[in-house]
Amino acid sequence: MPTLTCEISQSLLDALNRASTDSGEGIDHIVSRALADTLQLDHGTLFQVSTAGALVEGLFSGVVSVETLKEHGDFGLGTFAGLDGEMIALDGTFYQIRSDGSVREARDDQQVPFAEVTHFAAGARAVLPPFASMADLLAELDQRRGTDNLFFAVRLDGCFVRLHHRVASRAAERETLVEATAHQAEFHAAEESGTMVGFWTPAYVRGIGIPGWHLHFISADRARGGHVLDCAGAEIALALEAIDDFRLAMPETAAFLAADLSRDTTAALDTAERGHGH
Ligand SMILES: [Zn+2]
Repeated sequence: MPTLTCEISQSLLDALNRASTDSGEGIDHIVSRALADTLQLDHGTLFQVSTAGALVEGLFSGVVSVETLKEHGDFGLGTFAGLDGEMIALDGTFYQIRSDGSVREARDDQQVPFAEVTHFAAGARAVLPPFASMADLLAELDQRRGTDNLFFAVRLDGCFVRLHHRVASRAAERETLVEATAHQAEFHAAEESGTMVGFWTPAYVRGIGIPGWHLHFISADRARGGHVLDCAGAEIALALEAIDDFRLAMPETAAFLAADLSRDTTAALDTAERGHGH
């Protein structure tokens, strides 16, 4: 992340130091939060493009550009037009992870059919105890949520002992999400340093969001990554933010307007997002 250097009065600095000591919140976070407020960046807001139900039905045409997403967040996940890989946004940089395993920075004019982004500002930080599986990790994250009924953004940094992730590969014409992810690329890694970006979505958002935890990974060298199916880790740094404002941008494409989005997406999302046969 960039470093900001500026001069402020002694009294302001004293007050800042006191606030940091009293709250345990780092000075960089307090300053970031104050700047975001002043500049009217919507912190604590999740901006989502399209719905999980539309994705399940195979609506993979791009409806918003990466450039537009950047106005709504510096952190998030999604996919690209045609279900061409996985998106991960971290510290303002948007990456496209493709099914051949390659990673590239997404161009501003690239189109996106589904994404969730936020201006990430961690409210809580911790180092997690060792975990042996995705289920263990998610149980650990669950303990720190405090409620099922808000969204949460989570960032995990460190060296993952074991990692199993997938990358969606371009969907054929008229394929649904379940059909398209049946031919996804899967990768296994060991001792992989990097960052996971993810969200908790409440169950009541079913049909619009993807309920539960959803994590994408990118390696520290920005060379590998994907949608996380399983992992193990130790000494992983956690940053968690509760999100109490949700904005949904609905596509105005003919395909979206004509789609039957009344179906229950639970089973299809479970198969597509938690892994076929896993
Ligand atoms: Zn994903």
